[in-house]
Amino acid sequence: MNNTLYSPELERLVRLEDSKSGLSGYIAIHSSVAGPAAGGCRFLSYACDEDARRDAARLAEGMSYKNVMAGLPLGGGKAVIRLPDRPFDREQLFRAFGQAVERLGGAYVTAEDVGTSVEDMDVVAKTTRHVAGLSPRNGKPGGDPSLWTALGVKTAMESAAQLRFGKNLSELTVAVQGLGHVGFELCRLLYEAGAKLIVAEPRADLAARAAVAFDAQIANCRSILDAKADIFAPCALGGVLTRDTALHMRARLVCGAANNQLASPEVGTLLAERGILYAPDYVVNAGGIVNVAAEYLGWSTQDVRDKVETTGERLLDVLHLAEKAAIPTNRAADSLAREALLTARSAPHTELAVTA
Ligand code: NAD
Repeated sequence: MNNTLYSPELERLVRLEDSKSGLSGYIAIHSSVAGPAAGGCRFLSYACDEDARRDAARLAEGMSYKNVMAGLPLGGGKAVIRLPDRPFDREQLFRAFGQAVERLGGAYVTAEDVGTSVEDMDVVAKTTRHVAGLSPRNGKPGGDPSLWTALGVKTAMESAAQLRFGKNLSELTVAVQGLGHVGFELCRLLYEAGAKLIVAEPRADLAARAAVAFDAQIANCRSILDAKADIFAPCALGGVLTRDTALHMRARLVCGAANNQLASPEVGTLLAERGILYAPDYVVNAGGIVNVAAEYLGWSTQDVRDKVETTGERLLDVLHLAEKAAIPTNRAADSLAREALLTARSAPHTELAVTA
């Protein structure tokens, strides 16, 4: 079931195919120089096999950068499973996925991601040890990582706001796009810190709850992009920072949880030219993977908190480099991440063999 393929941008690309369970997709390992490649498992509909492969490769590279910038002893990997277009048994499919992960002998550690849940990972754990994001046990790290992601974003936002405005969050207005697992919790933390909130969310029930609980003003999903706010916090989709949004945005700081916020690296340049400080997504949204790492590596909840609460310091390293080198913040982050990967000790391996 596991076929290792050649892929120039990856250390290892494993094809997943199991007709019995309907499992079809890829495990991509971008880098294991810092440790076992860790990253979640996406379960989504893809138009074609090549789209799934490309997504796995792109996301695995992102995980290498995120993990190394968070100072974790982990490399970057990702699994992408194509949502079957015929009826399937979810338990059987995730058991088969777990077997595929197990065959890699710990080279890849999986967890939940878009389209998968704690329950799915509990099933995966029946066939492999190399999985995190399981139901929490005895107060140890585990479960939904979103609360930690939200805490990391809030901590980063505090540091960036001091740098950009010389102000505390209690003196600022934040526009939050998306009130899902991370966005809603982020609103709670911001409200507790005294920030004023503007929110947008297609699910009217969530928006209404935020309005009541956090005294948030509700905007529609389009107008949130240029809302009259100091800070824009994208917590919904990737690719939200386009040329157009960058040109019209009124906020002067962007700091949110969404992955791959920049539609292209050039948008980072445009934001910098407009004096908008962009907090690179993978630097600020690593709280969840810290929790996943802790679960896998046997760290305590206090270890997770200590690491997540230093997200702001790691962000400031990036922002100071950008300022010193007069480069956009996304380029500063990429440069620090690549440097850290080069410095990481163990030698990378390239696998061309085919495992049946
Ligand atoms: P989620 O699916 O729980 O929430 C996303 C929310 O955004 C949903 O409520 C959805 O209705 C809303 N939404 C969709 N389109 C929107 C639009 N146009 N405008 C406003 N809202 C819209 O996802 P999540 O777990 O909260 O993650 C949010 C983002 O953060 C994603 O990009 C995810 O990849 C990223 N992220 C999440 C974690 C984590 O720990 N969950 C970690 C790192 C990065």
